[in-house]
Amino acid sequence: MKRFFVCCLVMALLMTTGCGKVNNIQILSTVDTAMGTVISQTIYTEGHYNTGLEVLQTIRDLEKDLLSRRIESSEVYRVNHGAQGEEVLLSEELAVILEQSLSLWEKSEGAFDVTLGPLIEVWDIDSLAAGEHVEEFTVPTAETLREAKERCGSEHITLTREENEVTLSLQDNVTIDLGAVGKGVALDAVHDLLLRRTDVTAAVISAGGSILTYGRKPDGSAWKVGIVDPEDTSSTKGILTIKGSMCVSTSGDYERFVEIDGKRYHHILDPKTGYPAEGDVRSVTILSENGFESDALSTACFVLGVEKGLNLLSEYDAEGLFILRDGSVKMTEGMKKYYEP
Ligand code: ADP
Ligand code: MG
Repeated sequence: MKRFFVCCLVMALLMTTGCGKVNNIQILSTVDTAMGTVISQTIYTEGHYNTGLEVLQTIRDLEKDLLSRRIESSEVYRVNHGAQGEEVLLSEELAVILEQSLSLWEKSEGAFDVTLGPLIEVWDIDSLAAGEHVEEFTVPTAETLREAKERCGSEHITLTREENEVTLSLQDNVTIDLGAVGKGVALDAVHDLLLRRTDVTAAVISAGGSILTYGRKPDGSAWKVGIVDPEDTSSTKGILTIKGSMCVSTSGDYERFVEIDGKRYHHILDPKTGYPAEGDVRSVTILSENGFESDALSTACFVLGVEKGLNLLSEYDAEGLFILRDGSVKMTEGMKKYYEP
């Protein structure tokens, strides 16, 4: 029996939705798609600008111009089709993303790796989770995985910063995949946009498994972000209470997967084995002021598991919450002040 599933909104947002007005502040809610996922927004504004459209455009532009592996106009596409054995000049934006990614690759002992494109293509879980050619799915052979794995590994990336110029070269057949950080990068760009829109007093923007809370609601109450229960994705395991601007990202084995004869194949791969990561955790939620970090660290900690994940988090200004296979919850000390079961 084959089952496929994609969980778009991995966190229930417990907040006011719909359009309305409180104390001359308009509340505008929209749901759209971008970056292959659902983008939902609630914006509190004193003005008349359609900031929601700008938010959406910002995310779509990032995908089209910078991050996408598939869209020919993007910088990642250009690099993937031109930096093998050649030095190519990077935009500062991509340079910073890759520097931070390589740093996390080292700190996570390779668990987080932006060069897994060949393995991701072999598994193709994203298409399967979206319901495409599920019936044809077979588990890749060990030989296919071995060949794909040979083309993976951030040690095959050379990034050189000289004064203000950063160049990149890739070994033959090596490519970049920013699937694990795209939504976090998008939320950072959206945060910058909201800071420039002085009419926006508060907002909550969610992109798939990543959420940005911004500012203060008119009544001064805190944001409530639900953490999905991996055992029953229609209910929440607990709630984070957040004041002001923060990013929350969750990576879990229930987000995008295909199930065959009772075995689940999900979209987060263990670079060491080439297979979907099979650790002690079902999901990891990271809270950080930085979208890139919350997104990247949730993926890294999912692969690493609780013990190594908690160690990794101690090197970052981020809090983490792990839901284990037995249903228990483990978290960093600092997360305790945000979380309520
Ligand atoms: P989602 O994008 O569903 O929120 P993640 O942020 O955890 O989930 O990212 C998963 C995506 O990251 C995969 O679809 C794939 O493109 C890529 N990926 C999978 N495994 C890894 C890994 N170990 N390191 C870096 N990127 C990965
Ligand atoms: Mg991630």
